[in-house]
Amino acid sequence: MIPARRPTVAVPVGAVTIGGGAPIVVQSMTNTDTADDAATARQVAELAAAGSELVRITVNSAAAAAAVPRIRERLQAAGLNIPLVGDFHFNGHKLLAANPDCAQALDKYRINPGNVGRGSRRDPQFAALIETACRWHKPVRIGVNWGSLEPELVTRLMDENSRARAPREAREVLREAAVTSALASATRAEELGLSHEAIVISAKVSGVQDLIAIYRSLAARCDYPLHLGLTEAGMGSSGIVASTAALAVLLQEGIGDTIRVSLTPEPGGDRSQEVRVAREILQSLGLRAFVPRVISCPGCGRTTSDYFQRLAGRIQAYVESRMPAWRRDHTGVEAMTVAVMGCVVNGPGESRHADIGISLPGTDEQPVAPVYEDGEKTVTLKGERIAEEFQQLLEDYVARRYPPRAG
Ligand code: SF4
Repeated sequence: MIPARRPTVAVPVGAVTIGGGAPIVVQSMTNTDTADDAATARQVAELAAAGSELVRITVNSAAAAAAVPRIRERLQAAGLNIPLVGDFHFNGHKLLAANPDCAQALDKYRINPGNVGRGSRRDPQFAALIETACRWHKPVRIGVNWGSLEPELVTRLMDENSRARAPREAREVLREAAVTSALASATRAEELGLSHEAIVISAKVSGVQDLIAIYRSLAARCDYPLHLGLTEAGMGSSGIVASTAALAVLLQEGIGDTIRVSLTPEPGGDRSQEVRVAREILQSLGLRAFVPRVISCPGCGRTTSDYFQRLAGRIQAYVESRMPAWRRDHTGVEAMTVAVMGCVVNGPGESRHADIGISLPGTDEQPVAPVYEDGEKTVTLKGERIAEEFQQLLEDYVARRYPPRAG
């Protein structure tokens, strides 16, 4: 069953809404030098094309702040209205004050309360950032990070814990510090005039169990929308698995209004992978539908040739290539399921459960491939052109099953 979402206030961020029951927003972050407006705009466009609905860019220098309006102009010229979030740390208050065009061009500011400023500078610098957000009517993400918790807060909570009758483990105190930092900063932002409906919270950590505990606590103690993400998740499959494990548990409990999967790309690797993984997490849980799902069995000793893998890959690629046109022309096609199965053991059954499916012949089976549509066997394909014929059946199925989009 699809879990009920935790009720939160709705926070408009440019063209999207975070929380308030809106679809869970997929977001990502560039890794270009923001001062290079051409490269950054190009990467934002790539991330948007992959499905990112909001993109964060670091604003760490005067040159980066000056480039933000140019990035916005380049995106507008390309017809892209994607919300941009500025990531600010120690000098954010100064950059925003000195670059009003940057302050205006961004759709949201991300502020890390642990990196706003040290000691006595912290409070006035935090206040300056919030006042800028109020002046430009921009929402803010209070984005706590485990790696940069406010030292004064951690020291205070550790001291209190050591005096307690039953002291908690140090790790539990650190988790509480992350939650307290986020909630106290949000309260302070509201005292400074920021609207309750202009605040999103995150408290990212790198451990799966820590993340789950912290977000459960945040969810129980506030109604701000929550941005989920495992920070420093790592590279490749380990980063994907860790992020999926953490996010799936929370999303299944209805916790999370926007997500980012923070993968470290391989050198020269594709930044958009984090967007694809985030979408796949949401789609696998049934929380959003982005592209038709191709269900294919893993293959086994019953499929001795690689014909089945090649066909499954070919169908997947075909669906992806046709999706922009299908999405433009047909309502609801994102939710379609297509099964490509390797033999008669599970093939017909799984094909019947899918919207449309094909069951290929395994070793020693008759060289025929029955096709099922909406649970019924409709045709049996054979010969050299099974792939092409199945693609045509897919086209016919989409045209028949999914109504034309109005307008
Ligand atoms: S459906 Fe057939 S080929 Fe695929 S994993 Fe199952 S037994 Fe193996």
